[in-house]
Amino acid sequence: MNSVYLKKEDCCGCSACYNVCAKQAITMKPDEEGFLYPEIDQGNCVDCGKCTDICPLTSKGNYKETGIPRFYVARHKAEEVLRQSTSGGAFTAISNLILRQNGVIYGADYDEDFHVLHQRAETAGQRDRMRISKYVQSDMRDIFTQIKADLQEGRKVLFTGTPCQAAGLRGFMAKSRLTDRLYICDLICHSIPSPLIWEEYKRLLERENGGKLVNVQFRSKKHGWSRANSNKGFLFSTERNPDILQEDDRFYHLFFTVGAITRPSCSQCRFTDIHRASDLTIADYWGIEKYSPDWFDPLGVSVILVNSPKGADLFDQCRQELLAEERPKEESLNEQRRLSESSQFPKNRSLFWEDYRHFGFEYVIRKTE
Ligand SMILES: Cc1cc2nc3c(=O)[nH]c(=O)nc-3n(C[C@H](O)[C@H](O)[C@H](O)COP(=O)(O)OP(=O)(O)OC[C@H]3O[C@@H](n4cnc5c(N)ncnc54)[C@H](O)[C@@H]3O)c2cc1C
Repeated sequence: MNSVYLKKEDCCGCSACYNVCAKQAITMKPDEEGFLYPEIDQGNCVDCGKCTDICPLTSKGNYKETGIPRFYVARHKAEEVLRQSTSGGAFTAISNLILRQNGVIYGADYDEDFHVLHQRAETAGQRDRMRISKYVQSDMRDIFTQIKADLQEGRKVLFTGTPCQAAGLRGFMAKSRLTDRLYICDLICHSIPSPLIWEEYKRLLERENGGKLVNVQFRSKKHGWSRANSNKGFLFSTERNPDILQEDDRFYHLFFTVGAITRPSCSQCRFTDIHRASDLTIADYWGIEKYSPDWFDPLGVSVILVNSPKGADLFDQCRQELLAEERPKEESLNEQRRLSESSQFPKNRSLFWEDYRHFGFEYVIRKTE
């Protein structure tokens, strides 16, 4: 096998191929933009084809549900949870249910240097670290293999992640009989930024402010929860003044306004679809103030898509923690472009990366201000 994918747009970096390879012939290596791609050691490869068979982008199946989801507006009943969540705290309600059943949660966390990576949680404390959107592609490592091991031990598992990661897990588990206990919850996903640019940004904040970063927080709700303000409010602190949270919007600017730092496959995302490769989908209920003003809450409101019978069962069981009501699907289809189309890259995306390679991060920050 020469390669798992033909062009970069055909690889989302979910690591399903790396996890499925019985010969450990695949390693995930960063490219010059910092995104991970599979690289095959031809000496170990036996050409079995499993990696391409299960790939959610190049395989025959894309692992999506065929039915139309049911759409709900939802908000966690506990104000404390709303304050500590990105949207309306749907993730906490769903994961609490699995934890109460002695299950295991997988989601995106930080390591001690604020690299974003998927982790395993068995306690509420470990799960809490997964709260809050981290606008950086998460390193999946051998997470799918760990999930399989938990399922083999009879544990229930909740996986949360981007739609392509969810599809990668479905591909990895496609031939397994263990999926009864596996619950997959994806996000509506705008697109996913580069871990390399995140590293550069963290180092810049450290240079400018003195000492290592000790706290970072995307989507802090400092400016409330609303479509207009939610992409403000990135907070951080460094060793020099660990208790003083400062605000900086340059990473958000590169992500949302310049739009040049996200993964090539996001421009042709196969999962910007009402048919999901997951049991539940969670996101912000943008526009709820127009459709049903009583539901608006400046601390956050979630939309939950119930995509499968298993998702319906999970949602019914966790509803006691939530205020929730079914809503017409058109509301979210109107407001959430990532349910119908991929994010568009700027025409000068390649110029951004050329500038970065030649002149460095501070140059591209200044140039795009
Ligand atoms: C990159 C990205 C793009 C998004 N784009 C949109 C969008 O276009 N529209 C929209 O309405 N919502 C979007 N969301 C989802 C939204 O920001 C919230 O994550 C979601 O509503 C859950 O909020 P909550 O209050 O239920 O959960 P929280 O308690 O805030 O939990 C956050 C959840 O997100 C997962 N997560 C966090 N960071 C990552 C990551 N880097 N990779 C994979 N999973 C992660 C965690 O595992 C956890 O399950 C996006 C999220 C991310 C990470």
